[in-house]
Amino acid sequence: MHLARFPRVHLAHLPTPLERLDRLSEALGGPEIWIKRDDCTGLSTGGNKTRKLEFLMAEALAWGADLVMTQGATQSNHARQTAAFAAKLGMDCHLLLEDRTGYKEDNYNHNGNVLLDVLHGATYEKRDTGLDMNAEMEEVAERFRKDGRKVYTIPGGGSNTTGALGYANCALELVGQANDRDLVIDHIVHATGSTGTQAGLVTGLKAINAQIPVYGISVRAAKEAQEQNVFKLAEATADRLGCSGIVSASDIVANSDYVGGGYGIPTEDGLDAIRMFAKLEGILLDPVYSSKGAAGMIDLIKKGHFKKGQRIVFLHTGGSVSLFGYLSAFSAA
Ligand SMILES: *Cc1c(COP(=O)(O)O)cnc(C)c1O
Repeated sequence: MHLARFPRVHLAHLPTPLERLDRLSEALGGPEIWIKRDDCTGLSTGGNKTRKLEFLMAEALAWGADLVMTQGATQSNHARQTAAFAAKLGMDCHLLLEDRTGYKEDNYNHNGNVLLDVLHGATYEKRDTGLDMNAEMEEVAERFRKDGRKVYTIPGGGSNTTGALGYANCALELVGQANDRDLVIDHIVHATGSTGTQAGLVTGLKAINAQIPVYGISVRAAKEAQEQNVFKLAEATADRLGCSGIVSASDIVANSDYVGGGYGIPTEDGLDAIRMFAKLEGILLDPVYSSKGAAGMIDLIKKGHFKKGQRIVFLHTGGSVSLFGYLSAFSAA
């Protein structure tokens, strides 16, 4: 695996810090908890999509695109980070935002990520939930193409083999940091959604034979479906990197016990995790992804799945901007 072979725009703030969470580790009384700060990747407050977009937007540039499109939920972090990249690279950006929650509040529909989308100059249109959003996007892209625009479309979450390269790169970076400080990592835990993060990470770790298991906490799909989707993308990413067959189905672990009421609907345990990280470590999680990932990690520590003496790295995938879209979730509690 040699990532310099792939076009990339270097806009992320890398490497992101790897820090030990002393107060959280002590409060939970289990393993030593470390955090990989991919909430600090830069560009409009950062998050995990920045790493993917370094490769995706390089492809858009190579294609001569003057308009990028992507799709996601109303409070999509991926849409906001795409809008920021497009602004920086002087391209137009048009978003399709899916109303997955049905929330009517002003904050949900106009604050947080939506506010930043607009500030970055992106335009957007809404869709009701339940449609094939990538197909909807392609339809709109065709209309732009008929008007003479050069449109580059990015699938939801930036999760294709190009985007996953960003997380193969993260695997190299993280293992390098751990080696430099004699840190043996026993597990990596993170929230998994559109699958690019886990697929890229696992593929990168396998490519360097790091022997570190990755534990995905699903924010949407059931365990079997999530594991299959991650595996499919990991296999394709390995092909793209010239190391076909390095990822086995057993390398992909997803747990869907912490989804709660559905995608984008906060859970009590997730909100507690947000308060815990904020009060003990000064770190902001988000209500849709990282809080559910953290709630899963905390519960699995309490249940003894992750044990004292082990070292866990929680990959913080970002998203705290959406806290401002979820004000009512906190005032109600
Ligand atoms: C998109 C996202 C994820 C999930 O990453 P995938 O690559 O889509 O699986 C996790 N956390 C945050 C904050 C995200 O925006």
